[in-house]
This record gives sequence, C-alpha cells and structure tokens, in this order.
Amino acid sequence: MTVFSKIIAGEIPCYKVAEDDCFFAFLDINPLVKGHVLVVPKKEVDYIFDLDDETLSQMMLFSKRVAQAIKKTIECRKVGLTVIGLEVPHAHIHLIPITHESDISFANPKKKLEAKEFEAIASAIAANCNV
Ligand code: AMP
Repeated sequence: MTVFSKIIAGEIPCYKVAEDDCFFAFLDINPLVKGHVLVVPKKEVDYIFDLDDETLSQMMLFSKRVAQAIKKTIECRKVGLTVIGLEVPHAHIHLIPITHESDISFANPKKKLEAKEFEAIASAIAANCNV
C-alpha cells in the first residue's frame, strides 16, 4: 500500500481539499508555494501513463475543478500542472499556483508552514471546490 493509499484510507493524516468516487486531492506536505495540491487516483497505479484512458481523462477533469478552486483561493496568475512521480510510486498530478515560471521549479526550497496554515489553506480551497 502506498503512502497515498494510506492517506486516502484515512490511515495517515492529510490536509484534504476534495474527493469523489475515484480521486482524492490534498495539500503537498512540502509545498513549493502555498496552495500546492496533489491529485491522486484512488486506484493504485505507479506511472500516470499506465492509467487506463478513462481514469486518466477523468483525472484531468477532476484536476481542472480543483485548479479552479485553487485559482479562486490563492493569488496567482495561473495554476500550473506537473507530473514527476519519482518519489511516491502512486500516480499524482501536482497543481501549483504560479505567477512566475520559477514558482514551479522543484529545485526551489520547499515552504515550511505551520499546521494551522495548512488547515486554513486546505479548508479555503475546499470551500471553493465543486467536484
Ligand atoms: P514525486 O513523487 O516526485 O512527484 O513527489 C512526491 C510528492 O509527494 C512530494 O512533493 C512530497 O512532498 C509529497 N508527499 C510525500 N508524502 C506526503 C504526505 N504524506 N502528504 C502530503 N504530501 C506528501
């Protein structure tokens, strides 16, 4: 079971943003910027392009709705999307509010936030999210 499956099962805590039958969104614990969200399929597949076509398409639509909520909540020019997946073997999309190209560089130091800040960001995005 991956760390993300444990989060989805409620065995590990997270700052949840949105959920439906097939997907789960929560704050990245080592965010590049405030509002950095991960979207994960409940189906446990390592490599995103091994997902079946239907799941991959629906994952993009779910991500769109979460990105719209991030955009409403966090001041930014756009919400960028990237996939890396070298650390956690469970397919996921990073949604990152950006104003400059450098905001989405994984070479940047990660933000350190207090639990209260994570909670406030997650609940504000969740309140703007229609999944
Ligand atoms: P990657 O697999 O390279 O896309 O990186 C995995 C991402 O998941 C990193 O940005 C981590 O900060 C994030 N991450 C790992 N464990 C957790 C966790 N328990 N809760 C939230 N985010 C996590």
